Amino acid sequence: MSRNRIIRCAACAGRIRPQHPHIGVENLETGEEFSYHARPECQKRAAEETATRLGAGGIFGAHHYHASTCPDEAPGFGCSGGCFDTPMAVAN
Ligand SMILES: [Zn+2]
Ligand SMILES: [Zn+2]
Repeated sequence: MSRNRIIRCAACAGRIRPQHPHIGVENLETGEEFSYHARPECQKRAAEETATRLGAGGIFGAHHYHASTCPDEAPGFGCSGGCFDTPMAVAN
């Protein structure tokens, strides 16, 4: 099993704790997954890098991993755990 696999944020290179909220952007063709922290700076980088990869012709799917303590049964944006208060696409 790969339970002890260390996940690193592709934006800031910091370690992501699996029990904390984070984002995974998966290349659906290769199965490769890029992980990002749920914090706004890293989400912004995730959106930019995903746009770049999409421009290169890849097919991607995003996964939102909520905190292990998130109380929502079917968590999404605005969950009561507050994992993803900031949507990935921020309109200025
Ligand atoms: Zn990060
Ligand atoms: Zn949550």
